[in-house]
Amino acid sequence: MTPNFILSQYPISRSISYTCPFCNRGGLTTYVTHRTPFKSVTNERKILEVAVVECPNPGCHEFAIRAKLLRQKKSRSDRTQHEPTETGESWVLRPRSTAKQVPNYVPEAIRRDYEEACLIRDLSPKASATLSRRCLQGMIRDFHDVKKGRLIDEINAIKEKVDPITWNAIDGLRTIGNIGAHMEKDVNLLIDVEANEAQLLISLNEYLFKEWYIHRQERTQMMKAISTAAQTKKEAKNGGLKQSPST
Ligand SMILES: [Zn+2]
Repeated sequence: MTPNFILSQYPISRSISYTCPFCNRGGLTTYVTHRTPFKSVTNERKILEVAVVECPNPGCHEFAIRAKLLRQKKSRSDRTQHEPTETGESWVLRPRSTAKQVPNYVPEAIRRDYEEACLIRDLSPKASATLSRRCLQGMIRDFHDVKKGRLIDEINAIKEKVDPITWNAIDGLRTIGNIGAHMEKDVNLLIDVEANEAQLLISLNEYLFKEWYIHRQERTQMMKAISTAAQTKKEAKNGGLKQSPST
């Protein structure tokens, strides 16, 4: 029988620090990797590796599942199996995309563009970049209340409101998103968007969700809590004064 040292070790469990894509909370959890070998008719050996992570947080416990295809090379001389190599093919099975949970006080149209940009990232980075561009435009219009028709004018209008590094990145998102949004003057000129570039645009939108919407919400809640606490104290003081006419 062929020695099967590598596969016999599976499933392998290891402890990882994890942020759950379902509830956005972090925690320490177990990452379990399973490997299933198979052989094609051409005698090519492949391994399907499936990794499963469970969210450790109470009330969630959702599973995230990823799979990838590995190539197994077998040496003719020693008949032993070597650590398989990457084929470059991998899939996010659950959740369907890497989209993070966006709070529902962000308008639905903006959230949908973001989620679709994540969903289509690997299949069509160019379409993903176009959706990220739309998502950005939606945020500028809603959050900054700027409506000028052309995104370039809207981005120029917020130049004084954001720091220069972020502003340059926002303008970069517009430029890359334009590749899918508008046809080049020369239709034979092919400019593509890579998946890692599409991911950068997704990450920028995630940053802006946080910087603009989430921070505003947190600030409003904290200020309201302080005002409510102050009001309660004031009422208690007034009530106390009424009850003690001697002071
Ligand atoms: Zn969770």
